[in-house]
Amino acid sequence: MPCKGICARHKALKPKSGQRYIIGQKRCQVCQIFIKWEGLWCPCCGYRLRTRPRSRKYKIQFNEKVIKNLLTNVR
Ligand SMILES: [Zn+2]
Ligand SMILES: [Zn+2]
Repeated sequence: MPCKGICARHKALKPKSGQRYIIGQKRCQVCQIFIKWEGLWCPCCGYRLRTRPRSRKYKIQFNEKVIKNLLTNVR
């Protein structure tokens, strides 16, 4: 199913950190948009949403951030 424009209503703002996935935003590859949505599937086109960074570089950053957060919480 193609984009029907519903995703625009759930559009997520770009965070200052630029790390969208860390704060729970998801990417629809069909609509080419980041949305704030609880489900795994796009409410607009029905395609599976991406919840993790694609590139290795971002994956490492993602993990480092999570670990850093854990350490900060312990201290
Ligand atoms: Zn859409
Ligand atoms: Zn979509």
